[in-house]
Amino acid sequence: MTPYEQIRSHIDGAIASLGISEREATRLMTPDAIHMKDLAVETVNGTETFPAFRVQFNNARGPYKGGIRFHPAADEDEVKALAAAMAVKCAVVDIPLGGAKGGVQFDPKAYGTEDIARIARAYARAMSEHIGVDIDIPAPDVYTTPEIMAIMLDEYEKTKGKSEPGVITGKPIALGGSRGRGEATARGGVFVLDEFVRMTEREPSGMRVAIQGYGNAGATMARLLAERGYRIVALSDSRGAIRCDDGLELMVTDDAKRATGTVATAVDRIPGATVHDPDDILGFDCDVLIPAALDNQIRADNVEHVKADIVLELANNPVTPEADERLFAKSTTVIPDVMANAGGVTVSYFEWVQNRTGLNWTEADVNARLEEKMRSAYRDVVALSRSEGISQRKAAYRLALGRIHEAMKLRGRYQ
Ligand code: NAD
Repeated sequence: MTPYEQIRSHIDGAIASLGISEREATRLMTPDAIHMKDLAVETVNGTETFPAFRVQFNNARGPYKGGIRFHPAADEDEVKALAAAMAVKCAVVDIPLGGAKGGVQFDPKAYGTEDIARIARAYARAMSEHIGVDIDIPAPDVYTTPEIMAIMLDEYEKTKGKSEPGVITGKPIALGGSRGRGEATARGGVFVLDEFVRMTEREPSGMRVAIQGYGNAGATMARLLAERGYRIVALSDSRGAIRCDDGLELMVTDDAKRATGTVATAVDRIPGATVHDPDDILGFDCDVLIPAALDNQIRADNVEHVKADIVLELANNPVTPEADERLFAKSTTVIPDVMANAGGVTVSYFEWVQNRTGLNWTEADVNARLEEKMRSAYRDVVALSRSEGISQRKAAYRLALGRIHEAMKLRGRYQ
């Protein structure tokens, strides 16, 4: 299944349950605009051309919003799928933004920072007529950073001849970025998990957590959960997994990751710990499994190994649709990516609000607002899933598509 077919299958399910007509469904699933440009850039190799995309999926609920990725696999299909997912994600957490995504198709590991800066400037110039603080607001994504956003902002403002900091989020704080943005995805995931634990009358200290992927999202999630009393019993990265049923000491796993590039080498310094192959973590005995690395990790061929009661998707698309059905059938709660990792776009929204109002919120203020937003959005998802007897993913998509559909009707976009 291509990424677009995957998200389509989720959206189609929601559309069918909402009684949306075929004509309306076709309109809902058609992106508003697909902008494609070839960026001609002077690099160390001479003049090179890079395919660049910006897909504006839907803006019925507010300006388009979505990151820009630099990746060899960033093609029209992938960017379209990610743009649709952004529209759903913003609607699930009920922020007044639509969905978009951008990409430049190249391998950033093959280029130095100066070439990457030139590609970033070329992208901002090429797309400057399509983006804007009230039109379409990009942000970082795979292999793009706050520093790259700073360069794009600079180029965009030069092209337009005016200051417009709210046109891009995920900027460095010195240029109007929001406090709390760096940890927002993981922190949002913590609030969601914590809400579910509270609703199901369990205690954090009784929850054994395994996290696949020890990057930005996974490592931050581990630290924030441990601070709240959750027991982190297993961690993994691309090179290995480490497990200790009494709980892992995160200062030690952090040290090991920094010093050797993998958490697995912490094994010598944690009594009772054992080392495993990276993929083994999916089948460890635990209460919560958090895929925070790559897509398509839990599939039809390995789903039966999953022992956790709760799977929280911090990564995008880590569970395939077939595996998702099987987890639902065996009463495993899957907290879907469009809900679980929406903390990042929520704080991006807060950044945009701060830029537009000229305010500068404290980190405590940002975190408190994030907590309110994530917990209340998640309570709506759980309530619908329980009342209809459907998975949380189906509930999240149904809520989101219902909101987008209502906005489309009110605007007369189906006429
Ligand atoms: P990252 O590159 O910082 O970290 C990825 C981690 O996954 C690395 O530690 C890497 O070693 C590990 N990994 C790779 N292959 C693995 C394997 N086979 N087994 C175990 N670990 C493996 O990326 P990130 O920013 O933490 O993002 C992780 C996921 O979360 C992605 O799916 C991303 O789309 C999603 N996400 C991230 C954010 C964010 O704000 N960072 C927001 C929304 C969604």
